[in-house]
Amino acid sequence: MMRAFLMAAMPQVARAQIDPKWRIHDEARPPPPVVAPGTTSTPEAAGQAPSDAVILFDGRDLSQWMQQDGSPAKWKVENGYFEVVSGSGSIYTRQGFGDCQLHLEYREPLPATGQGQGRGNSGVFLMGLYEIQVLDSYENRTYADGQAAAVYGQYPPLVNASRPPGQWQSYDIVFHSPRFGKDEKLLQPAHLTMFHNGVLVQDNVELSGPTGHRVRPPYKAHAAKLPLFLQDHGNPVRFRNIWIRQLKTGE
Ligand code: MG
Repeated sequence: MMRAFLMAAMPQVARAQIDPKWRIHDEARPPPPVVAPGTTSTPEAAGQAPSDAVILFDGRDLSQWMQQDGSPAKWKVENGYFEVVSGSGSIYTRQGFGDCQLHLEYREPLPATGQGQGRGNSGVFLMGLYEIQVLDSYENRTYADGQAAAVYGQYPPLVNASRPPGQWQSYDIVFHSPRFGKDEKLLQPAHLTMFHNGVLVQDNVELSGPTGHRVRPPYKAHAAKLPLFLQDHGNPVRFRNIWIRQLKTGE
C-alpha cells in the first residue's frame, strides 16, 4: 500500500532503464555503433557534424528546408550562414524528426535593435509544436519564460548563458517526443534537455504540451516524426551548422 502510494506520488521522469536482456558485463552484448565525433565550432568557423548526423545546413544551401507550403525556402544564404528574411515566413525541414539530438548555431543582429521580445527573435520549433526561444537575451530583459533558451511559456533557462549580439552561439538539445496511445491519449509527455553555449539550461524538463503565446494548450495526438521549423519573427537572425541525430529510444 505504502509503496504504491509512494510510486504514485513520484514525479514522472523519462529515464532510460537497464536492459534486462543482457547480463552485467555480457560479452555477447553488441558494441555501440562507431561514430566519428566531428569537430567543434569556433567563433570564426563552423565545425563538422558527427558522422551519423543528418546535416540540415552545412553552409551551402537550404535544400533541406522549405516554406510551409512545400516551396523552396526563401531565406538568404551567404558566407556559410543563412539569415531570416523578414516577412517571408518560417522555414521547415523537408524531413520529419521525433526523438533527437539537435545542434544549431545562431547569431543575433549587430547592432542590437528593439527591446524585449522584439530583439533578435526567432525560434526552434521541435516537431513544429514545441518552441525553444531564440532571442537576443544579452542585457535585454523580457519575461523569463520567453528569453533565449526558454521552453517558450513553460520553462525559463536555468541560467542566462547568452553571448553578446554579433557572436555565434550554440544550442544543443536532446528531445524526447511525447507518446500517444492508439486511443490518442497521452502516454508520456515530451522531455527536453539543453545546453546553451555549452552550459546546461534545461535539465530533463517535462513539457506541458505545445508552446504558445499566453497559452499552454494540452497535448493533441500527432505523428511520431514531424518537421521542425525555424521562426520568422521579423528579425534578421543568422543560422549556421545545423545537424540532427535521430535517436532510437522507445521505438
Ligand atoms: Mg520566438
